[in-house]
Amino acid sequence: MNTMPEENPRNDAAIESIIEGKKMEAYAEHRTKDMHQCSLCGNVGYRKRPMRPIGAKWICIDCLRSLKETLEGLDQWEAEIQLEKEMSKKIDDTLRV
Ligand SMILES: [Zn+2]
Repeated sequence: MNTMPEENPRNDAAIESIIEGKKMEAYAEHRTKDMHQCSLCGNVGYRKRPMRPIGAKWICIDCLRSLKETLEGLDQWEAEIQLEKEMSKKIDDTLRV
């Protein structure tokens, strides 16, 4: 078996700098994973502002909360819209007579 040749210190340094570069890349990627921008309010979220991906977009907990409230009130909202439509139709009919 051949013995390993004496390692060239210059190669060592090159390898070290490649490893450092990879570390930085991994770190940057790791940081980016923690950081998202809310598609609705534009706030940047870290771990302290929880965010969830909705499709390809990220939305923060604050916006999701108000979205939930809006959705919960959607039935009533739709009923109001429907009522308004009927009202204006009635008014139109009344004016036409
Ligand atoms: Zn938001």
